[in-house]
Amino acid sequence: MLYTIPDYYKEFQCIADKCEDTCCAGWQIVIDRKSLNKYRKTKGKFAKRLRRSIQWRKGIFKQSEDKRCAFLNEQNLCDMYTALGENSLCQTCKKYPRHIEEFENVREITLSVSCPEVARILLNKKEPVSFLSFERQGDEEYEDFDPFLYSVLVEAREVIRKILQDRNKDIAVRAGLVLGLAHDMQVRIKRRELFSCDELFAKYQKKKAAEFVEKKREENYEDKKQCFDRALHMFRKLYRLELLHEEWAIHLEETEALLFGKGAFFYAKVHDEFEEWLKENMPDRQILLEQLLVYFVYTYFCGAVYDGKVYSKARMAIVNVFFIYEMLVARWLKNERILDMEDVIMLVYRYSREIEHSDENLEKVEAF
Ligand code: SF4
Repeated sequence: MLYTIPDYYKEFQCIADKCEDTCCAGWQIVIDRKSLNKYRKTKGKFAKRLRRSIQWRKGIFKQSEDKRCAFLNEQNLCDMYTALGENSLCQTCKKYPRHIEEFENVREITLSVSCPEVARILLNKKEPVSFLSFERQGDEEYEDFDPFLYSVLVEAREVIRKILQDRNKDIAVRAGLVLGLAHDMQVRIKRRELFSCDELFAKYQKKKAAEFVEKKREENYEDKKQCFDRALHMFRKLYRLELLHEEWAIHLEETEALLFGKGAFFYAKVHDEFEEWLKENMPDRQILLEQLLVYFVYTYFCGAVYDGKVYSKARMAIVNVFFIYEMLVARWLKNERILDMEDVIMLVYRYSREIEHSDENLEKVEAF
């Protein structure tokens, strides 16, 4: 079995009670069968509390009214961990913030930026992210798995990573190239011409392709009203998502009012001013966006082996970063035109919590 991890994987360590948030509130924690059986058989002082704190039929931990896990105490520490030790934790709690994508004979492990500590590591990283592979014993076969499509997707993802990490180009141009490549790949998948994807990989790494994207971008940017309408139209789709944290709804309304409340001219002006401010005060802003794009592409792109939707996987990555960027602009306005890394980290992990912790939301954003 082949395993892959990002190069910053080992830097992560849970900071527990020093964490500004908790991963044990806001969503239901599903307990695996083995842990459920173990909890059923637990004896001793803690057994009674354990039994009372689980919804046995659903196989989840009970929660308080404000959606905190029944074992989470006021110091944001887990009482079960304290009473029974690390081994008592169910798979969900043990694994988090690790995210695992499963393919035939492959496990791609990433760290979810919904954990503030992971977001902090990723967003403070200046070097381009790379991914490491290692083998462990054990083989498996999947029914209906297309190894050829998977191998092309892995190759495409590597090309995309290369494009996204080409720091000689503006990040918007890099994103445009990725969209173009994924779009053309989708056409080839539809026509069953996957074997000819190599041409595309070469084409989108050429200077000519970047010049084309740059020209298109300038043309589109000219029409400020259209940019505003498109952005608002996209932004409002966020209201259709499953709401995991009540305060997210308030955050969305506030962001909409700040960014879109004063019309197209204000929207364009504020974006220009924000970009100027970033250039001066956050010179690594493009690296930050690059890390996020690579994160979303790496995590979800190869999932297209199960549904063939290459283009929407690439778009999803870009749309996610677009939403985060819009929220950063709004936060900057709210802070009276100041923003620091902690604001960025907070917005990224909160966004990720709303989107990545709900399959329904991931599917909806992909459909956007
Ligand atoms: S969110 Fe991350 S750092 Fe915070 S408690 Fe959970 S795993 Fe630890």
